[in-house]
Amino acid sequence: MMIVMEPHAQEADIQRVVQRVREMGFTPHVSRGVERTVIGMVGRAPVQDPSTFLQLPGVQKVVPITAPYKLSSREFHPEPTHVQVGPVTFGSDVDIVIIAGPCSVESRSQLLETAHAVKEAGAHMLRGGAFKPRTSPYTFQGLGEKALEYLAEAREATGLPVVTEVMAPDAVDLVARYADMLQIGARNMQNYPLLRAAGRSHKPVLLKRGMSATIHEFLLAAEYLLSEGNWQVVLCERGIRTFETATRNTTDINAIPVLKQATHLPVILDPSHSTGHWNLVTPIARAAIAAGADGLIIEVHPKPDEALSDGGQSLKPERFAQLVREVKAIAEVVRQKTFVPAEERPNGR
Ligand code: PEP
Ligand code: MN
Repeated sequence: MMIVMEPHAQEADIQRVVQRVREMGFTPHVSRGVERTVIGMVGRAPVQDPSTFLQLPGVQKVVPITAPYKLSSREFHPEPTHVQVGPVTFGSDVDIVIIAGPCSVESRSQLLETAHAVKEAGAHMLRGGAFKPRTSPYTFQGLGEKALEYLAEAREATGLPVVTEVMAPDAVDLVARYADMLQIGARNMQNYPLLRAAGRSHKPVLLKRGMSATIHEFLLAAEYLLSEGNWQVVLCERGIRTFETATRNTTDINAIPVLKQATHLPVILDPSHSTGHWNLVTPIARAAIAAGADGLIIEVHPKPDEALSDGGQSLKPERFAQLVREVKAIAEVVRQKTFVPAEERPNGR
């Protein structure tokens, strides 16, 4: 349920509604938009008599939220949410965020070399897996806590905040001690105890879409995090399973505008996993930014042919630098959102 205030409602009117929401046993969530303030009622029980709010001064209407993913819906929170990770802001309308780094942290020198290279190329954050969710138990599983130490060292050396995957609820505290953002991977999108633990941690979370999850299921997974009180959530499309075998997964470009309309949470794309081939990463990264994504996460390795995981989809640093230049140019065009028809342009433009 949402209480929409009149555009000219006074602060005292808003506070009166907030007070009433609390008295009814719900938690108020105040969202102050440019035009008006909306107060959401957060709680598990149904609202007994919503029309009582209409008696209060400054209240324009009371609206039920129809989406089952209530807290993450645009209906509940019309303004975009900004997710802050150190100095980096996801979801702002002025800048996109680019996360880059190796699939796995393989050694101290590999990570530091990659971190410096991606920083130089313009990345805002560093990625690198410490605990790897590998399909086969016989392949490289990650360096564990040692990798977390290297990530923390790379952050000190470059100033880039770090994101890394957490695979189990009882590892959340450990990973949160080192990382600036917790990644929940595709294979764990529906690991509900993990979602609840990450929700309680209050660290920003990068939630990846399950490879066979619908958008509806994806948003309900995000709802687990929000309902535990963690609103610092960034959604990541990473490709879905289809009948197509030419690429590792199928990039669901549709998901970007669908999610942007359905939710206030920032949305980014992982074209490395969504394509599986290094030479498809840049074109699909361009498409994502053109479609309105708030950012990208890209796998970069100094020597992709020697990588212990996902070498075939990893970019060399110089190719990554070129990707950054291209997507920044597209982001400027997309975010400008103005179009001057030829006949209205002054001569010579
Ligand atoms: C990864 O980011 O390295 C990863 C394992 O991604 P996903 O969970 O999307 O497969
Ligand atoms: Mn990977």
